[in-house]
Amino acid sequence: MSTHVEIALAVILISLVMFFASLLFHDKAGDKPARIAFRTFYFSAILFFISISNFVSEPAPFNDLLTDIFFAISNASLTLGILWRCKSRLPEELVYGLTTLYLCMDVFINAYSVQFAYSYNVICSLICAYALLNRQDGVNTGDKGMAAILFVHAVLLIINLISVTGVVEAGLYSKFMTVVFVFAPAYMAGLTIFLFASYMLDARKALEIQATTDPLTGLYNRRFFFEQAKLALSTSERHGEPLCLMMCDIDHFKDINDSFGHKAGDSAIKAFSNVLQASLRVEDVLARYGGEEFVILLPQTSLSKAQHVAERMRSETENIALASEKGCINITASFGVCQVGEFKDIETSINHADKAMYAAKSAGRNNVKTYSAVLT
Ligand code: GH3
Ligand code: MG
Ligand code: MG
Repeated sequence: MSTHVEIALAVILISLVMFFASLLFHDKAGDKPARIAFRTFYFSAILFFISISNFVSEPAPFNDLLTDIFFAISNASLTLGILWRCKSRLPEELVYGLTTLYLCMDVFINAYSVQFAYSYNVICSLICAYALLNRQDGVNTGDKGMAAILFVHAVLLIINLISVTGVVEAGLYSKFMTVVFVFAPAYMAGLTIFLFASYMLDARKALEIQATTDPLTGLYNRRFFFEQAKLALSTSERHGEPLCLMMCDIDHFKDINDSFGHKAGDSAIKAFSNVLQASLRVEDVLARYGGEEFVILLPQTSLSKAQHVAERMRSETENIALASEKGCINITASFGVCQVGEFKDIETSINHADKAMYAAKSAGRNNVKTYSAVLT
């Protein structure tokens, strides 16, 4: 058995294992099915290495054609899978166009077959690396690893391509193939390990988001708020900086649900959370505390400043005008503010901000009250 065939056998087995591994890939609902493209890639890679082994031992035109077709399918499917997964701005028509061009040139100008194959592979690898490093959902370590493997692969091919001058004789095929074959197991295994890592890291990120955020508003949930609040409290104590806490709640929200329906109520909660978010700085922590109740932590903020922020939010809330099937929805909200520094723990501060907020409700709603004012 020649070395090529032995290496090809190893890559076929690796591709087979990788094909089964790729059955574990899951794309997000609504995303293009990149996993199908990756499975096609592994499957066509198996067929490519079978046909190239055949071609090396028997360089007949039919074996050559089969090799080229499987080579094109494996390159195109990998590139498509990556473009879909990365939601790349590069159009998928680019892959179809390049693949058609490669196959036509390869068939009609057969003498430069190796150069065409290398050039096509280099372009596809660079497209993949570019898409991975510019992934719309955020680039993770798996994506970077894949980009590195593809880049090394492209560089190896370019070096080979430069060394090829003129028409390639049949006897020289084996020389070029050696490089491709020797790197192939590392390429296949490396690509899949990093692709797997990328899918796993995505799943972990999704779980983290699920555990820390509220699905309706996308804001932090109550549990994560307490974690963040503890950190903010210890930072403000260490630096001797003021820290304020605000509770706010939509007025007569039950009436909104009753008059306009639960879905419109959800839209009102979202609109209100957007107004709150728009008035805050990046260091402020905003969370959905309960149904239509929100809590906000304002580091490095004095009570009078926090009161000012609440007043701005209150007046912005008055301007909300949501269109619905049953008419325009207007909302108001009540706000309670307290300074955290005066109290030992966040729970007590929440209690005090809540008291201030209920004082604002009692005073007619659509109002801002501070805890110190409630005491006097
Ligand atoms: P108040 O001015 O005193 O705050 O009056 P309210 O009607 O807003 O008071 P209350 O807190 O008793 O009512 C809140 C209502 O919010 C009750 C609940 O059905 C509704 N609610 C809670 N969570 C959601 C939600 O996620 N979506 C919608 N649409 N309604 C919710
Ligand atoms: Mg309410
Ligand atoms: Mg409420």
